[in-house]
Amino acid sequence: MLTNRPRGTSDILPADIHKWYYLEDTFRQVCHQYGYGEIRLPIFEHTELFVRGMGDTTDVVEKEMYTFNDRGGRSITLRPEGTAGAVRAYLENNLYAGPQPVKMYYLGPMFRYDRPQAGRYRQFHQVGIEAFGSHDPGLDAEIMALAMDYYTRLGLSGLCLQVNSVGCPQCRPVLRQRLQEFFAPHREELCPDCQSRYHRNPLRLLDCKNEKCQSLGQGAPSALDCLCPECAAHFAAVRHQLDLLGVSYQVNPRLVRGLDYYTHTAFEILVGGIGAQSAIGGGGRYNGLVEVCGGPPTPGIGFALGLERIILARESQGLPWPRARQMDVYVAVADAAAADRAVRLLTELRSAGLAAERDYLGRSLKAQMKQAGRLEAAFTVIAGSQELEQGRVAVKEMSTGEQHTVPLEQLVDFLQGRMR
Ligand SMILES: [Zn+2]
Ligand SMILES: [Zn+2]
Repeated sequence: MLTNRPRGTSDILPADIHKWYYLEDTFRQVCHQYGYGEIRLPIFEHTELFVRGMGDTTDVVEKEMYTFNDRGGRSITLRPEGTAGAVRAYLENNLYAGPQPVKMYYLGPMFRYDRPQAGRYRQFHQVGIEAFGSHDPGLDAEIMALAMDYYTRLGLSGLCLQVNSVGCPQCRPVLRQRLQEFFAPHREELCPDCQSRYHRNPLRLLDCKNEKCQSLGQGAPSALDCLCPECAAHFAAVRHQLDLLGVSYQVNPRLVRGLDYYTHTAFEILVGGIGAQSAIGGGGRYNGLVEVCGGPPTPGIGFALGLERIILARESQGLPWPRARQMDVYVAVADAAAADRAVRLLTELRSAGLAAERDYLGRSLKAQMKQAGRLEAAFTVIAGSQELEQGRVAVKEMSTGEQHTVPLEQLVDFLQGRMR
């Protein structure tokens, strides 16, 4: 137990962290350009928030939450997603009273007690955005554009944006009834999940992954057949805005989100190369959610993308990662008499903004040079007592093997000049 991490978790080692920096930095940059500000939310919230925010009939709430009582006897849940916490923060901090829309993004770990498989973990990482306070279909389109822009900047190809409208509380009962009528003759043949969805959440009959359910669903009515005039107009405007932004998409009438507070736009982004589970992100409008969580009626829209899936997709597409951050200078000690001066030198280099490292194992000079190579240092400064007495050090440029003798007072300028 002591040397095994819990199932479904992973260690992100220093050797791999540059991949994560790249994904996170790129996301921060895109969000900033689209006018979103970062929000940092708690990793855990009151359980009731997720039950309300995600709906008590969803798989996540029914089977997958990490819920426990804390020492004060309160029921606490590790966040399985980011939206509920963002809604809570929007209300608790009175953000609804300020200028709208409020555009926020987040990134961080989420927790679901799911069956671990490729690209799926119990602690996984998401980036996401939430925008509150606007009905504008242009915002729906902008959010999809942002997501696509992000994937494109990461170099991913074979992307497919699928869009649908799931209607509103006025027109959804019509769809619900038509779906129940359609599936009624085949109810016994549906999978056990769908048999319970049939009553509680018939929209979800459309996106069951079970083959039998999928074939029974051939020709089922879709949300698009049942939209009220207002929803149809919103959907048309979203598509128009996507065209304006130059974002290509497919309408997928089977794309659904089962809960009442989801309204209008639903979307999903698929990518080639990671097998059957090719969705790498999705989102939609949730004009009823803020009210469900106890706030004033407030439109909202958002999406979430899984970073593990993006890593899988990039690797399956053979995309190279940007280089890991490099060590600039390795300070090697040629003889024991130079050791103290070398430590001060190291500090001077770091103070000047350089990444600098030295030996802590009493290695020979030759072994120190080898270590500098392993660390991929750009330069090795060789501190020898004789040269130091003359106010100089030897500098080896590791990429070329070239050696220079550099006066100490010019060392920082020399290194910085060479690195440029
Ligand atoms: Zn409607
Ligand atoms: Zn099913």
